[in-house]
Amino acid sequence: MTSTLVRPARLVDQFELGLDAPICLTWELTYACNLSCVHCLSSSGRRDPRELSTEQCKAVIDELQKMQVFYVNIGGGEPTVRSDFWELVDYATAHQVGVKFSTNGVRLDKSAAARLADSDYVDVQISLDGATAEVNDAVRGPGSFAMAIRALENLAEAGFRDAKISVVVTRHNVSQLDDFKALADKYGATLRITRLRPSGRGADVWDELHPTAAQQRELYDWLVGNGDRVLTGDSFFHLSAYGNALPGLNLCGAGRVVCLIDPVGDVYACPFAIHEQFLAGNVLSDGGFAHVWQHSDLFTELRSPQTGGACTKCNHFDSCRGGCMAAKFFTGLPMDGPDPECVLGNGESALNAAGEIPKSSVDHSRTGERKVARKSVPLTLMMRPPAKICDENPLTGMTKE
Ligand code: SF4
Ligand code: SF4
Repeated sequence: MTSTLVRPARLVDQFELGLDAPICLTWELTYACNLSCVHCLSSSGRRDPRELSTEQCKAVIDELQKMQVFYVNIGGGEPTVRSDFWELVDYATAHQVGVKFSTNGVRLDKSAAARLADSDYVDVQISLDGATAEVNDAVRGPGSFAMAIRALENLAEAGFRDAKISVVVTRHNVSQLDDFKALADKYGATLRITRLRPSGRGADVWDELHPTAAQQRELYDWLVGNGDRVLTGDSFFHLSAYGNALPGLNLCGAGRVVCLIDPVGDVYACPFAIHEQFLAGNVLSDGGFAHVWQHSDLFTELRSPQTGGACTKCNHFDSCRGGCMAAKFFTGLPMDGPDPECVLGNGESALNAAGEIPKSSVDHSRTGERKVARKSVPLTLMMRPPAKICDENPLTGMTKE
């Protein structure tokens, strides 16, 4: 037996301690958007006048190259409405930073599709939240289904291979999962489904839109049967408590392997955690992105050895991990308690007692003042995502309590 402290061998343990560079970096280039989706995680709509300039964006890309960040997820807002969008995409790929961008399809005409088909380093995902116009447009706005389908047609015609269709699973589209898959097959695309989080405007509609308990089970069963043919962004690991662990890391990566750069250069622990509480720094005022990622107090805290919480006593903790930090925070639940969608029902009683959700000061909605869903409750927050110390902390027994 050795007392030497070494980096843990299991990948998941290494990820819990954080890496020198994020492996899942989302960069929202703009808060401007042509749509006003009711569940927009970043409350986008209006451009922020402090948006990073072209040169400032290029300086961030230079840093990503130095950090060997191999690709970046670009989103918004609608990133393609930036006049320098293609310039930045070209700059990134010329500097060995691959680009995966999310779009509602508004600028994805035939010439843009042809341009994309010519590149090996750019991937595109089209957002679609209903397999029919009726279901999609109720959430994303009138005409948005037709716009997305036109973009998929343009990509397929141009010979772009393996675009992604990105679906946020809601109460109204769980029953359409097979239809989404058929749609993806039709356009030679891959289906990507992700969890609805109560972030941004998503907090306002979460009660009405998040899948019911019966639908969570339906979703889990569908993922067990089809998971090898769809992408999930590892976002349904809280459902693993139903039985077998779903493929993926089963880990909240916030601040450890995941983070967000927002349009003004603020760095948050996760794209679904745009709130002062999860703000690690700014790429302009805090010494650059690498410095924020590697040295911010928040990220250091998130990567530090974990203490227990109510969920650590649960038999399913190893696969569920207490669920999503952002989902808990934005429903007013304590971070060391169960996920609001805990499949054992432990989140429901907590939600019944929960009140006003913490509201982010970052809101670029064009629709005026957002409603607030619940009344206030005291939060007993700890900054860290939950983890089971006895099984997951590689330093257990090696450090003084
Ligand atoms: S806060 Fe939620 S969405 Fe963000 S990394 Fe953690 S589990 Fe994933
Ligand atoms: S009690 Fe916690 S760890 Fe157990 S299933 Fe519910 S959220 Fe997951």
